[in-house]
Amino acid sequence: MNPSILITLLLLQCLCVICAAQEFDFFYFVQQWPGSYCDTKKSCCYPTTGKPPSDFGIHGLWPNYKDGSYPSNCDPNNSYDQSKVPQVFTFGLVLIIKTTHQISDLISRMQQDWATLACPSNSGSTFWSHEWDKHGTCSESVLDQHSYFRAALNLKSKIDLLQILQSAGINPDGGFYSLSSIKSTISNAIGYTPYIECNVDEDGNSQLYQIYVCVDSSGSNVIKCPVFPRGKCGSSIEFPSF
Ligand code: 5GP
Ligand code: 5GP
Repeated sequence: MNPSILITLLLLQCLCVICAAQEFDFFYFVQQWPGSYCDTKKSCCYPTTGKPPSDFGIHGLWPNYKDGSYPSNCDPNNSYDQSKVPQVFTFGLVLIIKTTHQISDLISRMQQDWATLACPSNSGSTFWSHEWDKHGTCSESVLDQHSYFRAALNLKSKIDLLQILQSAGINPDGGFYSLSSIKSTISNAIGYTPYIECNVDEDGNSQLYQIYVCVDSSGSNVIKCPVFPRGKCGSSIEFPSF
């Protein structure tokens, strides 16, 4: 083969590798316990759609690097739900073109499973847009906006943390449970050890706030965590009611 063609081919191959390079290594899928978000000095506000279910809610799906660092706010040109998608319907012989939000079909599931508890109350769009702009844009090469939110919702359905904990007698009843029993119960159910983040209630007790599970870069499979965030809970932590 002509050497100049060979060099061109090699250069093209290099370029392709660079194009396909991952912007991140894995995701943390983070769920929050609403009782612990609310039982703090700061308190909380229910969304305008009503009190969320007494269940873990999604906080986010966060791209991360194996060294523990993470990218954020990766694409100011792709902000939340910015673009509307034209949809074409036929009504008899009439053609109807309607524009809808990219994720309008997911909103009712998000109100249920990704409820916002921050004040002042709103429907949830402030929280969802923050999560997309800060984290979602950093995995946009793998998941567009609709796939990103759908991936998180599907993970939530797949990993039913409340059911896992309750089936081991760990209930949101204001009681204290050992951190090691919470970790081992989840690890037995999903195959890998989660990271547990605590916060502090109004009386100064350490309580179960967020649970992190690691997910591969496709956003669909649970994996062993390459690295855990830093932080400390007490050895016995409260699981408040909600
Ligand atoms: P905090 O400082 O309260 O732990 O976290 C504040 C915010 O920083 C989180 O809600 C999240 O957006 C981001 N963050 C904290 N730790 C991590 C991490 O380990 N990975 C990623 N991707 N984001 C994180
Ligand atoms: P992160 O900590 O992910 O960077 O950002 C969390 C942001 O989302 C904060 O600005 C917080 O006020 C807002 N937010 C809205 N609703 C919620 C919620 O239910 N839980 C948490 N942790 N943050 C929320």
